[in-house]
Amino acid sequence: MDYSKEYNYHSHTFRCGHAANVPDGAYILKAVECGYKKYGVTDHVPVHPIFFGDSYVRMHDSDRYDYYDSIEKLKELYKGTIDVYLGFEAEYDEIIDAYLCELRENCDYMIMGQHYVLNKDIRYSVDYPIEYAKKVCAGIESGIFDIVAHPDIFMQYRDGIPESQQEEYFYKALEASRMICMKAKEYNIPLEINLGATHVYDKKVAESGLNEEQMAIFNGKHARYPTNLFWAVACQIGNSAVVGIDAHYPEEIKQKQAKLAKINTYIDLSKLNILENYDPVVARENNPKLQEAFERTKRNATSVEGRLVESYLSYLLDAEKVNKNKVKTDLIRTLRELPNNRKFAKIDDFDGYTMKKREALIKVIKEGTRKISPGPIDGLSYIKELKAAIDKHYSRSSIIELDYEGNIIGVKNKFKK
Ligand SMILES: [Zn+2]
Ligand SMILES: [Zn+2]
Repeated sequence: MDYSKEYNYHSHTFRCGHAANVPDGAYILKAVECGYKKYGVTDHVPVHPIFFGDSYVRMHDSDRYDYYDSIEKLKELYKGTIDVYLGFEAEYDEIIDAYLCELRENCDYMIMGQHYVLNKDIRYSVDYPIEYAKKVCAGIESGIFDIVAHPDIFMQYRDGIPESQQEEYFYKALEASRMICMKAKEYNIPLEINLGATHVYDKKVAESGLNEEQMAIFNGKHARYPTNLFWAVACQIGNSAVVGIDAHYPEEIKQKQAKLAKINTYIDLSKLNILENYDPVVARENNPKLQEAFERTKRNATSVEGRLVESYLSYLLDAEKVNKNKVKTDLIRTLRELPNNRKFAKIDDFDGYTMKKREALIKVIKEGTRKISPGPIDGLSYIKELKAAIDKHYSRSSIIELDYEGNIIGVKNKFKK
């Protein structure tokens, strides 16, 4: 079996907090040593905790400038030896579309590594595969992404499904696989055979007492992914594929062939269309449909500020409907983190409206906040400004009870209609 060592487009750095604590160059050195020609760095994107509550597995927004610098330097340093690409791995969700667009504009390519479905803790439900696939399809349609990373990761929880529901789960997983493969095919982007979870297979093999051949007969069930169910569908639909190491440690780069050989014991890789010389930058240049989708997403995306304002408003306006404690916790966390974390751009025409009704207000939030004026301001000023703007329009000083130090938050009165 001979697989190209041409490229790897899935790898991480120390910034995400769960990868080796080594300089970025250590990965490139290893890739050069192993004969790679192209190497893409795709660390987990920063996402503010108010949107995704898992900032411990990703870099902070303020880290990304150092990330940009470091990878750009490596590009220069290794010019002529290996092509280094600057990328990100991101989950897709509409609530961060504007931010993802901004990140995408400032890198060479982006892979969609959907690790979960937001706000729906249904991992061990038979409904999870379809919910997951819907999100991945929406992500593909956004045009932001160049590769779908570990497209079958949603099946990693399959052993936790009760025996009585396994059959139903199987058909749902099959349908979800079809949805993802068809959508990737429609937008002509490759699916990734991900090598990041094969160690789990090893562990299970050791625990089960089965040898590897027996495990293969057992349908690869205990490799978290890749799964033969998904790749059988991809094979049938005719998707293109890339191999991604998902390196969190430099040593993983040289394990590529061995891991592929292992996977090949239960998925016939020779049947898949694994691209020999894929390059995401070139591929996008030749993919007008994908680029058009991205342009459309950029035009329609609601800014991060807009989403934040929506959160505040839903708290203010629907105070009796929402989970007050949850929102309150989010707000406190936001206030504490904003000044040191993400710099928020200014909402420039928030003041330009007379907002008498909730509908009018929401409209302004959705339409007015898309326009971002130049010059970032920090989060604390943003909140002060927001409070001032809201207070002004409603001529009440205590609609939002904010302690500017971030300690006390509450709502005294609802808006007057
Ligand atoms: Zn990771
Ligand atoms: Zn990854």
